[in-house]
Amino acid sequence: KTRFPKPKQTRYIAVANQKGGVGKTTTTVNIAAALANSGAKVLVVDMDPQGNASTALGIKHGLDQPSVYDVLEGRKTIAMVKQTCPDFPTLEVVPSSINLSGAELEVADLANRNDLLKSALEEFMAQEGVHMDYVLVDCPPSLGLLVINAMCAVNEVLIPIQAEYYALEGLGQLIHTISLVQAHYNPMLIVSTMLVTMFDRRTILSKEIYDKVREHYPTITLKTTIPRSVKISEAPSYQQSVVAYEPKGTGAVSYREAALEIARKSPVVLAELEAKKQGR
Ligand code: ADP
Ligand code: MG
Repeated sequence: KTRFPKPKQTRYIAVANQKGGVGKTTTTVNIAAALANSGAKVLVVDMDPQGNASTALGIKHGLDQPSVYDVLEGRKTIAMVKQTCPDFPTLEVVPSSINLSGAELEVADLANRNDLLKSALEEFMAQEGVHMDYVLVDCPPSLGLLVINAMCAVNEVLIPIQAEYYALEGLGQLIHTISLVQAHYNPMLIVSTMLVTMFDRRTILSKEIYDKVREHYPTITLKTTIPRSVKISEAPSYQQSVVAYEPKGTGAVSYREAALEIARKSPVVLAELEAKKQGR
């Protein structure tokens, strides 16, 4: 079991793309599992009302379960709602709830509506004895208030890109939204990582998409790509990440490789963020 280098400070990463089905949730849970498996302390926040990340990590998220919905609306703290992933003792999860779909309207009139997750995370992380190496936020497929909350609570965005023809369509809109968040709410936000998912090595198209992403985003596109794999798609039905479900398979191997790349970039990313802070 390889130990990945640990970041000197907590890395806060939102996994975002307003397109559905591009691999956000799969990437969040498997990068989190791979990092936790390497000994890192990881917190996953499931911000999608669908609760797929909670399911895939074996976390209960029924209507009777306290969740991020209660956290955003100020009824509970993160410490009160988080659960530990059964497969990895250093992986904690803030579950979602189907009720979360109503939260956007319910908090719309609050002056601090964009910073609800940020405040809750700050309060949690400031507690005695709490330390996380990584906080990963799984975003819903929209650019609404839940995603803005995620982007205000982190300083990095990881964009998963599905290796298919329309993959790059909509990317401009996402980058534009991120720049609006940077301009108005969170000047510390950077797009730190692009990961090409569902890569099919038999097709020229996959390679073309990868090359195009790499050409546009040379420094932040991971060298590792995630292959299309049946095991990756069936793992959630066993309430497991593929890292736990089939640790030696190609899905787990590639997600571990991607997680190692992310871990190795910590000094560069943290230095960039520090420079941004100084420059303000
Ligand atoms: P999103 O969160 O962006 O909507 P998901 O991570 O839920 O996307 O992935 C969409 C669907 O594709 C899910 O059914 C998931 O199991 C499947 N999937 C994701 N990544 C892969 C992959 N590498 N190989 C095969 N199926 C995948
Ligand atoms: Mg999802």
